[in-house]
Amino acid sequence: MGKVIGIDLGTTNSCVAVLEAGNPVIITNAEGSRTTPSVVAFTNNGERLAGDPAKRQAAVNTGRTVYSIKRQMGNDYHVNIDGKKYSPQEISAIILQKLKKDAENYLGESVTDAVITVPAYFNDSQRQATRDAGRIAGLNVKRIINEPTSAALAYGLDHGESQKILVYDLGGGTFDVSVIEIGDKLIEVLATSGDNHLGGDDFDERITQYLIKEFKRTEKVKIEKDAVALQRVHEAAEKAKKELSQLTETNVNLPFLWNGKGGAKHMDINITRAVFESITADLVKRTEQPVFDALGQAGITAKDIDKVILTGGSVRMPAIQDMVRNITGKEPCRNLNPDECVAAGACIQGGKFSNEIMPGPVNDIILMDVTPLSLSIETIGGVATKLIGRNTPIPTRQSQIFTTAGNFQTSVDIKVFQGERKFTRDNKLLGNFKLTGIKRALAGVPQIEVSFDIDANGIVNVSAKDLGTGKQQQITITSSSNLTEEEIARAEMEARMYESEDALHKEAIDIRNNAEAYLYKIEQAYHGISKKLDKNVRAALKADISELKKRIVKAKPEKITYEQAGGIRQAWDKLIQTVGMAGINV
Ligand code: AMP
Repeated sequence: MGKVIGIDLGTTNSCVAVLEAGNPVIITNAEGSRTTPSVVAFTNNGERLAGDPAKRQAAVNTGRTVYSIKRQMGNDYHVNIDGKKYSPQEISAIILQKLKKDAENYLGESVTDAVITVPAYFNDSQRQATRDAGRIAGLNVKRIINEPTSAALAYGLDHGESQKILVYDLGGGTFDVSVIEIGDKLIEVLATSGDNHLGGDDFDERITQYLIKEFKRTEKVKIEKDAVALQRVHEAAEKAKKELSQLTETNVNLPFLWNGKGGAKHMDINITRAVFESITADLVKRTEQPVFDALGQAGITAKDIDKVILTGGSVRMPAIQDMVRNITGKEPCRNLNPDECVAAGACIQGGKFSNEIMPGPVNDIILMDVTPLSLSIETIGGVATKLIGRNTPIPTRQSQIFTTAGNFQTSVDIKVFQGERKFTRDNKLLGNFKLTGIKRALAGVPQIEVSFDIDANGIVNVSAKDLGTGKQQQITITSSSNLTEEEIARAEMEARMYESEDALHKEAIDIRNNAEAYLYKIEQAYHGISKKLDKNVRAALKADISELKKRIVKAKPEKITYEQAGGIRQAWDKLIQTVGMAGINV
């Protein structure tokens, strides 16, 4: 079996790691960074970009650049580009494809197996959507694991002793808190809580709104409807936020932000850390209650916690660190990189599948995750009757006997919900199916056994059996927002097609760039010796240089066609021949 990579598929940034000599190694991407922005863009000439190249062009291509798609996983949401609809799974697959390719370039071999992490709070459809995204990207997803569990796994590498750990994870778009026990040979998630609509993006948004308001106050212009200006302000807001983690004051300077009657306007606004902390205090506060909830569910108090691990890029904000320190009474542990430890843990889990030898206690560690939300079925009056409570260790199987509500009822509708509320209308419907052919009997007589199975990935299977007839119905839950098998297969094919198209496009650009570099060298050499050359050779060289130059100028890198690249190749070859004839050394 080849290497199993570990992927932290983040809302804002993603990270991929692999085990080497038993230790997690973070893979540097094609752009030279250890994390990859979770951004996808569709250029005007039909090319798909992912990561830094997509993020870089966002300001000039706002309508065709997709951010934070993780927030939509498991939803019915679609991105519409040129009349074609892309599901969150397909967009995420473009990011995963890039991570896969970066891993392949690093390892020098093809990669098919992966462990992908998700927030502990993700429900069944969000987990399935993540698994499907992996499939579309050509990955065999060996396991979906919770991000905090993954961080604990990375932490557990160097620390054999038994202890209780609080993982506080504030990323770009989600907040998770988990209480984890690292035992002798077991990592067990005792409880999870969080908010999957809270993260660094919300802090950026507060600064963005502050800047827009200040700009309106001082310059008397509104920029809310100017998509390009807004994008620039948004990028500057995130930059300012990051700077305020180090500095007590920063400046946002955006020249020519607005242009209209009265001339150009430039943004030049100072923000102090105190102002930033005052406009975001409620966001910081919102993360407190889930910490207490998780501690409560684990049946412990902050005093029982041995270590606090911070993960996710947003934990670099001093206000967050202060708050965590205050409510736990512990100094957060500093020896894990908050951007990388989740991917590192995922590849450790991956190493277990490929039977890699790992140092010390990790070899023997067994990972036990829990189900993040309760599972129930609907009974009379819209009541959510729980079969599996939240935080039950998985895999698990639970059964309960139900009966009919009406006389001579021969079928029942089984509706499956996920969530903590008493009534099903307040929870998320995961799916439903009908058990038919129940033996005619008075209400309350038939015995229907409903069983829930949750596998190690947190994915749910439900079955119902009429114990009178032995008749059984079974479904793997796929909610309406999930893709069908055909849709996944089609998306998989398209993704492969685009991958080879992207490779061809890159080759075309490489030809153009290398030919341009060669042309530059020849032009330099030609100027030095042109007078010494034979008249005919000089004319031929001049003609070949001009032909190649013409073709290079015509083929813009972002729009280059294969025909143009072919033409450049021909003209380049011809020039090489003439250069050889002229005896020029380059
Ligand atoms: P993640 O989803 O874990 O990659 O976290 C990304 C989030 O962390 C984004 O919202 C970033 O703006 C935020 N972030 C990264 N570095 C810093 C920093 N130095 N200070 C504040 N937030 C940061």
